[in-house]
Amino acid sequence: MRDVFFEEVSKILDRYTIQFKGLTTGQHIYNLDVDNDFFAEFENSEISGGHLEVEIVLEKHSNMMELDFFIEGDVEVKCDRCLEPFEIPTEFEGKLVVRISDSIEEGDQDDEIWFVNSNDYELPLAQYIYESICLSLPIQRYHGILDTSEEDCDKEMLSQLEKLSHHDDNTEAKTDSRWDKLKDIMKN
Ligand SMILES: [Zn+2]
Repeated sequence: MRDVFFEEVSKILDRYTIQFKGLTTGQHIYNLDVDNDFFAEFENSEISGGHLEVEIVLEKHSNMMELDFFIEGDVEVKCDRCLEPFEIPTEFEGKLVVRISDSIEEGDQDDEIWFVNSNDYELPLAQYIYESICLSLPIQRYHGILDTSEEDCDKEMLSQLEKLSHHDDNTEAKTDSRWDKLKDIMKN
C-alpha cells in the first residue's frame, strides 16, 4: 500500500492535503500555489524553485473520487550546458482516481489509482503534485528552450567547461592507448 497515507507531512506540505470526509457528492474546486518553500521540502530535487498555480477539480461520487489536475507556471532548474539555474515555463494535466473501499488488496495501488478505506479522511497530494511537475519537465534543459534565451547561457562558465572536457578527452585517449597495449600483451 502507498505509504503516503501514513506519513506525517510537514506544515508546508500539509497545505496540499485535501480533507474529503463529509464532502458532498459533486464538484469541488481547489486552487493552490506552489512556491519556493514547497520545492525546498524535497531533498535532492532537480527543481530549485518555482511559482506555479495548481487547480484541482474534485468530483466526489459515493465510493470514488476523480481528481483532475491543472498545473501551470515556472520552475527553476539547472542549465545542462552552463550549469546555472534558470527558469522555464511548464504545465501539467493529469487525472487521479481514488477508490474508497474497505477491501484493499496489497499491490492494488498504482500511480493513477489510489485506494483509501472508509476510515480515511484526507488525501496528501504534495508528493503527487511534486512528481507531476517533475514529469512535465523536458528531459534536456538549457538556455534557449521554451522561450528562454540562448544569450543567457553563462559564457565564462561554458569556456571553463570546454577546457575541462578537452582535458577529459586527453585522459581518455591515454587510457585507450594503454588498453590497446594491454590487449596486445594479452594476445601474445
Ligand atoms: Zn546555460
